Amino acid sequence: MPKSCAALIATLVLTRFLIAQSQSQQPAPSPRSFAAQPQTSQAQQANFAPQLLEELGAIKSAALTDDYAYHQLQHLTENIGPRLSGSPQAEAAVNYVAAELKQLGLDVELEKVTVPHWVRGAETADLVEYPGQAQGANQKVVLTALGGSTSTPADGLTAEVVVVNNFEELKSLGREKISGKIVLFNEVFDKQKAAAGLSFISYGEAVRYRGAGPKAAADLGAAAALVRSVGNADYRLPHTGFSAPAGIPAAAVTAEDAMLVADLAAQGKVRMHLTLTPQKLPDVTSYNVIADLKGSEHPEQIVVVSGHLDSWDLGTGAIDDGAGVVVAMEAAEILQKLQLRPKRTLRVIAWMDEESGSAGSEAYTKNHTNDFPRHVAAIESDSGAAHPLGFSVRMSAPAAELLRPVTNVLESFGATALQPSPYPPGADIASMSENGVPALGLEQDGRTYFDYHHSAADTLDKVVPAELRENAAAMAVMAYALTNMRDPLPR
Ligand SMILES: [Zn+2]
Repeated sequence: MPKSCAALIATLVLTRFLIAQSQSQQPAPSPRSFAAQPQTSQAQQANFAPQLLEELGAIKSAALTDDYAYHQLQHLTENIGPRLSGSPQAEAAVNYVAAELKQLGLDVELEKVTVPHWVRGAETADLVEYPGQAQGANQKVVLTALGGSTSTPADGLTAEVVVVNNFEELKSLGREKISGKIVLFNEVFDKQKAAAGLSFISYGEAVRYRGAGPKAAADLGAAAALVRSVGNADYRLPHTGFSAPAGIPAAAVTAEDAMLVADLAAQGKVRMHLTLTPQKLPDVTSYNVIADLKGSEHPEQIVVVSGHLDSWDLGTGAIDDGAGVVVAMEAAEILQKLQLRPKRTLRVIAWMDEESGSAGSEAYTKNHTNDFPRHVAAIESDSGAAHPLGFSVRMSAPAAELLRPVTNVLESFGATALQPSPYPPGADIASMSENGVPALGLEQDGRTYFDYHHSAADTLDKVVPAELRENAAAMAVMAYALTNMRDPLPR
């Protein structure tokens, strides 16, 4: 992002220089400032009247001094806690967010969603045989069950560990060498990419093994499957997450322990005693919280702002994704506080079940597909709470270009990106995006996101209040622009 931003500034400066030169025989003055007056097209000017630009500035200023989002996040994470699908805390969070949005004066609806109810149990592992083992000694391995994992016997199972680096290696070993074994997928999370600002690429590469590895191992008769944690930190933390139902116990070991097991297995036979006792309970009825601030001129046209309310159970779901929910809530809070009535309907959605199968967004799609042509745009924030860089957008190029005056408003804190995305920029808005709704993902500096993501360290202290305020400002300004620009965003 910084690179493309610098390139853009350089291009702007060069363009101004060339225009100045072509218009005058005088030697052109060298550009004095990078804060070039943004140039606006006719379509931009027509859509963003001076009054609207003034209101966007006021929304930004209000959000940058508003602690509403942080206080809501504090309640969600500290008073309510982890909000795994189907848990009592998820239910409490639904009721809490619905009541808060009602108190803001919004029309609140609870949309029924059937969610899985999986409960973590004991999770321990020891290496009970390995080369060079001291007599009577075992080595502890730190791990955590993946969502949906089945249980080992209550007193655990013991089996040889087979380490593979990729799916090809697994396949080449075949059923004969995999059957009855514990398979460890040792795909390494690329920290250098993450440090360079490309952490979601590192995540995408490694998460394939968490998602599909256990099933692939089960298909070859494995007794259990382990994956190296998809995470970026060095504090021996296991990172849980969704894994396709495999019918065998499945867990994430820490990066440190994956390396330990791989090193020992390269020397000789390694056997592990593994105990995982999670339970799959009957499905539970839960809800998406949907809250409308009705539009004054086009109530039937809808702009969605959203985050997902459910979280993993190890931490308290502060960055994933309590932060997304509370900045969406604040978009409505700011408008009410400033008494700014949206022309189109602003719809706040707190999604349920993003982490455990996306039943929430499926239910919304099922119930609202016919309204998608009147969904002007959908925004989701689900990449943390760090300093916002702008938006990744999946929409036509003219539509994205039309939003430049909005990011000009956000330029004071650097959230200027309108980065075209080939993929839907948010899991819960993916189906809207696939159905033609212009989609935006609030994009944060993700360099440290995967240090904490899906681990016990996803807690409130990781959220910097000033950065959360910037996120709330970016969300509220973009949302109000979309509700109040003259024309609905073109498709
Ligand atoms: Zn998330």
